[in-house]
Amino acid sequence: MQFCDLGAQYRAYKTEIDEAIASVLESSVFVGGPEVESLERELCAFSGAEHAIACANGTDALQAALMALGVRPGDEIIVPDFTFAATAEAVVLAGAVPVFADIDPATFNVAPETVLPRITERTRGVVAVSLFGRIPDLEGLVRLGRPRGIWVLEDGAQSFGASREGRLSGSIADVSTVSFYPSKPLGCYGDGGAVFCRDAALAARVRRVCDHGQSGKYVHEVAGFNSRLDAIQAAVLRVKLRHFERELEARNQVALAYGELLSGVVPVPELADGERSSWAQYTVRVPRRDEIRSRLRERGIPTAVHYPVPLRRQPAFAGFAGLDDSCPESDRAAGEVLSLPMHAFLAQGCIRRTGSAISETLSGIGSGFDPG
Ligand SMILES: *Cc1c(COP(=O)(O)O)cnc(C)c1O
Repeated sequence: MQFCDLGAQYRAYKTEIDEAIASVLESSVFVGGPEVESLERELCAFSGAEHAIACANGTDALQAALMALGVRPGDEIIVPDFTFAATAEAVVLAGAVPVFADIDPATFNVAPETVLPRITERTRGVVAVSLFGRIPDLEGLVRLGRPRGIWVLEDGAQSFGASREGRLSGSIADVSTVSFYPSKPLGCYGDGGAVFCRDAALAARVRRVCDHGQSGKYVHEVAGFNSRLDAIQAAVLRVKLRHFERELEARNQVALAYGELLSGVVPVPELADGERSSWAQYTVRVPRRDEIRSRLRERGIPTAVHYPVPLRRQPAFAGFAGLDDSCPESDRAAGEVLSLPMHAFLAQGCIRRTGSAISETLSGIGSGFDPG
């Protein structure tokens, strides 16, 4: 069993992908160009974003967005304590100070209530992550931030295709980012990313930052960096985008099947009305995680932990955490989360095997765990 089966996906679209890559090789346009421009248009059409700027990866997308927003040294940017390191790393690289907010235990995401206590007069923005493919209350965060002059950036690295009340990831916050790392819901065959926004002037600044700060050839308005998407990656993404809606539905079916097998056994993700996840991960909470993981491993079932250490406890970021910045829900999640195999090609038999292995292991170790 595979945690994320990219081989099965390639075999399903092999002819189309091979042709798309060959046509880039024939064109000799390898960086940017028409493939990338077409991808940008198609990403906007899919997500409802006004502008899409493709770049080299999801971490660069965050950094480019922060630079284009004019983040300055000493600015405080609120980030989740429970996320992948890139979210806070980009803030530090942009010269600002990450301030860690706790999460809502039901969604693993920040919420207006967990962000509000972290706001000070130095707060410039909030980076809200759509963790595991579920969009946080971005509208609530925008309502909280706007009157205070605080922008909201969605780190949508894991959530392309997700939606909340009909609005898709990439189109809700002031600015959003996505990663096309191979194992993300929409992944390429290397690194890739994009920034989405509504405002044309901000889009132009993002594009400039990603192109050495150039406004025209050899006119460098600001110090930027080099972050471009390869045409081969764009071509692969355009093929996968044509199949993406069906993959999202397949992932949703996997999640529904896990939910039926595991609810009442362990706390499982439960979507709100009008919410659609991209199911980047199917993450449950378990007691005695190491023991459960090794029992599952013995049966050939791979699992992963996203993420074992809250960011404010990481050596790279501990220096930014204030003494009173407690994040009890983030600490608890880091000790309990377990991600199960999730991809669009996962067989029913694998889902059942994983579900029963977890139930059997839990009753075997007699945890008395409250499934919530
Ligand atoms: C993957 C990821 C990123 C970084 O994306 P890369 O393309 O790997 O640079 C940023 N934030 C989150 C939440 C991620 O999961």
